[in-house]
Amino acid sequence: PETSIGLIGLGTMGAALALNIAEKGFPIAVWNRTGDVTRRFHAAAGPLAERIVPTESLAELVAAIAPPRAIILMVPAGQAVDDQIAALAPLLSPEDLVIDAGNANFHDTNRRAASGLPMRFLGMGVSGGEEGARHGPAIMGGGARADWDRIAPVMEAIAARAEDGTPCATWMGEAGAGHFVKTVHNGIEYADMQMIAETYGLMRDGLGMASPAIGETFAAWNEGVLRSYLIEISAAVARAGDPATGAPMLDVILDTAGQKGTGRWTAIEAQHLATPVPVIEAAVMARNVSARIDERRAGEARFGSGPQRLAVELASLEAALIAGKILCYAQGFAMIEIAGRAFGWHLDLPAIARVWRAGCIIRSAMLNDMATALAEDSARNLVLAPFFAERLQSAVPALRRIVAQSVLHGHALPALATGLGWFDLMRTSRGTANMIQAQRDFFGAHGFDRLDGRDDHDGPWKMGGESSTVTAAR
Ligand code: NDP
Repeated sequence: PETSIGLIGLGTMGAALALNIAEKGFPIAVWNRTGDVTRRFHAAAGPLAERIVPTESLAELVAAIAPPRAIILMVPAGQAVDDQIAALAPLLSPEDLVIDAGNANFHDTNRRAASGLPMRFLGMGVSGGEEGARHGPAIMGGGARADWDRIAPVMEAIAARAEDGTPCATWMGEAGAGHFVKTVHNGIEYADMQMIAETYGLMRDGLGMASPAIGETFAAWNEGVLRSYLIEISAAVARAGDPATGAPMLDVILDTAGQKGTGRWTAIEAQHLATPVPVIEAAVMARNVSARIDERRAGEARFGSGPQRLAVELASLEAALIAGKILCYAQGFAMIEIAGRAFGWHLDLPAIARVWRAGCIIRSAMLNDMATALAEDSARNLVLAPFFAERLQSAVPALRRIVAQSVLHGHALPALATGLGWFDLMRTSRGTANMIQAQRDFFGAHGFDRLDGRDDHDGPWKMGGESSTVTAAR
């Protein structure tokens, strides 16, 4: 069949995306480094095989696509993407478009976009895992608007649809903007998962609940404010039994979490931008601690047997998670707002909340309300939007009780507790950085501003400095 689209890399994501594209009526040419994979993919494509053109070489792939071409790369982020671009370069014309749909670091996408490639180039974040790629992912495009417009009909056709029917495929901004938004999405995903795991831990170790009962609780929460894909699958995994032993599945899974790095990238980038995302940082930290299982075992042997039983209401736990989630998303959206200004992208925050409403891992009912609140004023922190301020006012007392009880009984809640800590900082107009400023002025003559506005920026330790310095030195 006549096609203008190609795809390179028939792994988990590429194969699913190619089938999705073919299913929506767009013929597509495909190529994979290992030829066997291409042949097996085509043979297993069923009735969709007639819209798929399998090819045996890059040259054959390019020849099979009518210009101007659009070629999607679904290969591991990093060197493989640079290698594929280099291999395609001599085969393509300047109007052909290469779309990196992997989980690229957005700095790499910025670099590629600025490197004078001999073809058009888009960086596109795709969320939703294999299932999403096959039946409807959330798609975050980045690059020249005109290039996005060229492939938007295909992306909108294959993307998930929000409840109001809007396709979750949106142009985010120039260059690496799409991959940046996907990165923050993954950071929020880490945080969301960590907070859910923390409530799971409180139910398991604090309340002594068995896994199926925990599953019932998550399922009930999924009917309320917390309705989301991650709560839904948490209910499913907690209810599942191990076919091999009959034990609850969760009870036989080793408690060390893997990661591919996108959560870490979010935390690192937030530090570069000096924007606080402590809940995401705590989630990355918790995964790192989880991997050190030998040290944790030694720690338990030396310092006692971990968390103790406690009494908390399940309703308080639900409210605590609602509060934690709002705080985490408020941090994530604030980071996006800052980054948009820092990188000159004019990111549209309500559009980002909308594109996350379906198809992606963090899809949730709450994103609807977030889109509405951000549309009122996207520069205002989400915690100050009236809708969420009210919700926080009713949920934070529960978060505070849960965190306090957990601390007293030795439960680690790194994400929920740090969310609360950030919130308390955010509602304190007279903080403690006056002490930091005084210290900095004392040892480094950095100066400070005064509350009373007087034009006097140094402390008395400068004027009669000797005595205070000597006292400190003793
Ligand atoms: P897989 O490992 O399943 O597939 C990788 C594909 O890339 C294979 O087709 C492989 O070909 C090909 N490939 C690997 N190295 C090279 C290379 N050096 N040159 C050319 N082709 C190469 O990965 P996924 O499909 O899971 O991931 C692909 C991208 O999508 C990654 O960037 C990933 O981070 C991202 N992603 C993954 C998600 C997921 O849930 N899995 C979700 C969202 C994004 P071969 O058969 O020859 O090995």
